[in-house]
Amino acid sequence: MTKWSWRIGSVAGINVYLHWTFLLLIGWIFASYLAAGQGWVAATSGAGFVLALFGCVVLHELGHALTARRYGVQTRDIILLPIGGVARLQRMPEEPLQEFLVAVAGPAVNVVIAVVLAGVLLPIAGVQGLMPGPLLSGRFLQNLMWANVALVLFNLLPAFPMDGGRMLRALLATRMDYLRATEIAASVGQFMAILFAMFGLFIVFNPFLVFIALFVFLGATGEAKLTEIRLLLEDVPVTQAMIRHFRALSPDEPLRTAAEALLEGWQPDFPVVENGRYVGFLHRQRLAKALQHGENLRVADVMETDCPIVHERETLNSVMQRMQEAHCSALPVLRDDQLIGVVTTENIGELLMIRSALRGAHAVSDRDFL
Ligand SMILES: [Zn+2]
Repeated sequence: MTKWSWRIGSVAGINVYLHWTFLLLIGWIFASYLAAGQGWVAATSGAGFVLALFGCVVLHELGHALTARRYGVQTRDIILLPIGGVARLQRMPEEPLQEFLVAVAGPAVNVVIAVVLAGVLLPIAGVQGLMPGPLLSGRFLQNLMWANVALVLFNLLPAFPMDGGRMLRALLATRMDYLRATEIAASVGQFMAILFAMFGLFIVFNPFLVFIALFVFLGATGEAKLTEIRLLLEDVPVTQAMIRHFRALSPDEPLRTAAEALLEGWQPDFPVVENGRYVGFLHRQRLAKALQHGENLRVADVMETDCPIVHERETLNSVMQRMQEAHCSALPVLRDDQLIGVVTTENIGELLMIRSALRGAHAVSDRDFL
């Protein structure tokens, strides 16, 4: 995602990126002002308003990120898209109360901004002066206040995975199991997404609403699937999905040997072993990159030594999470210092396939007996 984005700064150690499509939004604002014959000054103030609003969105995302940090969850980055912001947390806290607080912290920031703006405007302009109006009539802050109110109301809609939907899931999860809570929240989210899309297409023609609907629909479907996977893998030891027959490299071998090994067999990533002890890992992309500098380099020169290590007693659930966090598709499995296997996302996928097929088979035979 960050590939198509520019880093515009960092707050509290979290990088903030602007997606290139954001330029389309600014362009669209200028075009619509100018097309309405309102001139460059009005257009510039319109664009300035959107930038100020997105400043509030950054603060909203920081609300999520800093609350998550309190529960030990780091945030990879914050990305601003034309349809809003995303704080990419490494995971969601599983404790329902913590998820609830992380979700509510974003809209809470906008409540604070709106209250502060009202507190500034009220003594100066009175209650009448709080009403929104054209930007150029000196109503910039009033409009910003109402936009924050709108952000709060919109985000609190129970459209999982939007904030309100996450809050709904967390509340449901205190009364039923997590998977069921997610399924219900996801169904409500998909239903809301269809309503957004209809509203955006047929009632107020607004392409942004349709984009948001698509984002919510896909997000709800994806998260429901992910939760199901996580629960299927809970309590399953890594040794059940571990590859036991694999080729290991030695640190002194030249990259030529690694390249040959890559072509000879099915294995794309190689653990590196010295005197029976695990010392590093060589992933395919890394090998390909290093080969550009010549095939006489040694494996030891290019292997990754800070790749996460999996202990044989770990569950697949936690392994999956660590793979995602480290962006690794293959990890070594150790018993003490000894390498006993390799776990890959592909193998975990195969295990999932077998497990859900078996679950389907059991369901059928249950019905037969009824
Ligand atoms: Zn939010």
